[in-house]
Amino acid sequence: MSKLTFSKSVIAGTLAFILSTTTAVTYANNDLPDLGTAAVNTFSLEKETVYGDAYMRVIRASAPMLNDPVLNQYLTELGNKLVAHASGVKTPFYFFLLRNDEINAFAFFGGHVGVHTGLFLNADTESELASVLGHEITHVTQRHLARSLEAQDKSSTATIVGMLGAILLTIASPQAGMAALATTQALATQAKINFTRLHEKEADRIGMQILVDAGFDPNGAANFFGKLATRYRFTTKPPQMLLTHPLPESRISEARIRAQQYPLRHIPDNLNFQLAKARIQVRFSGYSEAAVLSIFEKQLKHNRYSFKSAAEYGKALALFRMDKFDESEEMIDELLKSAPNNLFFIDTKTDLLTQKGDFKGAIALLLKEQQIKPTSNVVNTNLANVYIEDDQTEKAIPLLEDLIFLDKQDQLAYLLLYQAYRKNGNKAMEYYVKAESLALAADYKTAIDQLNFAYKQSKDNPLQLARIEARIRQFRQADRAMEALQ
Ligand SMILES: [Zn+2]
Repeated sequence: MSKLTFSKSVIAGTLAFILSTTTAVTYANNDLPDLGTAAVNTFSLEKETVYGDAYMRVIRASAPMLNDPVLNQYLTELGNKLVAHASGVKTPFYFFLLRNDEINAFAFFGGHVGVHTGLFLNADTESELASVLGHEITHVTQRHLARSLEAQDKSSTATIVGMLGAILLTIASPQAGMAALATTQALATQAKINFTRLHEKEADRIGMQILVDAGFDPNGAANFFGKLATRYRFTTKPPQMLLTHPLPESRISEARIRAQQYPLRHIPDNLNFQLAKARIQVRFSGYSEAAVLSIFEKQLKHNRYSFKSAAEYGKALALFRMDKFDESEEMIDELLKSAPNNLFFIDTKTDLLTQKGDFKGAIALLLKEQQIKPTSNVVNTNLANVYIEDDQTEKAIPLLEDLIFLDKQDQLAYLLLYQAYRKNGNKAMEYYVKAESLALAADYKTAIDQLNFAYKQSKDNPLQLARIEARIRQFRQADRAMEALQ
C-alpha cells in the first residue's frame, strides 16, 4: 500500500469550533474569545482563519472554481508580488479564480481573494488587474471585514451568526442543487456587511501604494475605473463589482490625482498577463470558437497587441480548440523556440503531445522542465496527468501526494489521484481519496459513504482500517455538528 500524505483532520475541529461560537452555549475555548457573549468585541485572526476555511468549502461546493494550474500559478505569483509590498500581513494569502465573465473580485476572511475571469477579460494591462488586487489585499490587511462586524456593535453577534448560519446552511446540504443558492447566499451575506466608504477610500489609497511599491503603473487604477465607469454609465444592470464598489467621478479623479503624485516612469506590460488573458479568452469565456479565433487574427493582422507572442498564443489555443492540432502545434513550437521555459507554452505543447498519444514526448518535455522547476505545480500536475494517461500510475501517485502535501486544497491533484487509483485498481484508496475530495467541499455525508466503501476493501490491512475508522469518526462529528444547527 502506498503511504498516505493527507493532512491531519482540521475539518472536524473547525466545524465544532464554528458551532461553538455561533450557538454560544457549547464549547468554552480557552484560546479564543467566545463571540456568543456580548462582552466580546475583538475578532481574532484565528477566527478569521477558521471562517475563511469554512467559506472556501462552500465556494468549492457551489461556485465555478477554475482549477487551471497555469492560470492559478500566474494569479498566485501576481498576488504574492503585491502582498510582499503590503504591510500588516498576518496570514497567508490564498488567491483563486472563479469562471465568471462578470467583472468582480472579492476578499474574505483568512486572506482569501477570489477573482472572476471577467476581470482579466476587461483589463488591458497587468497594472489594471493588479490595481484591483491591491485594493482587495488592503481589505484583508486592514481587516475591514472584521472591523465592519465589530462596528455593528450590539448587532454584531447577530450578524456573525447570520452570516455563518448562511454559510453552514449551504455546507449542510451542498448536493441538493445548492449551486446558485450557496454562492448568492454566501456572497450576498458578505455584501450585506458591506465595507464602509471609509474602508473603500483606505483600500484605494493603500492599495495604490502597494501597486506602486510592487513596480506597477499607478495609473492602472484610474484607467480601469475610468473604463468601467464609461462602459456602464447608462446601464441599468451594472456588474457585481460596481454594486459593492460604486464609481463616482470623485473616486476616479482621486485615483488620477493620487497617481500623478508618483514620478512618471514607463512601466512595460507583462507578457504572462497577456498570455493568461488570451488563455481565459479562448478556454474560459463565453466567446465562440470563430469569435475567439478572429480576435487574435485581427490583432495579428493590424499589429494591435502589446506582445505579438501573446496574440500568437491566443491563435494557437483557438486552433487547438477547433481541433486544428497540426496548425496549433506549429505555432506553439515557434513560440517555444523563443521562450523554451515559458509554462504557458509548455503546458499547451504537453496538451498537444498528449492529444495525439505521444506520451513519451510529453513526459520527456516535462521531466526536462522539472529539472529547472522541481516544485512547479504546473509541471508536476501535467506530468502526473500524462503518467496516468500512459498507464504509469505508480509514477503519478507519489507526484500527486507531493502536490497535496504542498497544498491541501489542491482539488485537481485530488481528482487526478482518484483517477490514478481507479486506473490501477486500488479500490480502497480510490474511495478514500474521493472522500477527502468531497470533504474539501464539505459534503461529509457522501464522504462517509465513500469511507465505508474503502473500509470494506481494506480487510487485510489493519493500519488502513484504523485510519479509515478515525476519519469516519471525524467526518461524523462534523456532520452531526451541522445537523444540530438546523
Ligand atoms: Zn473594496
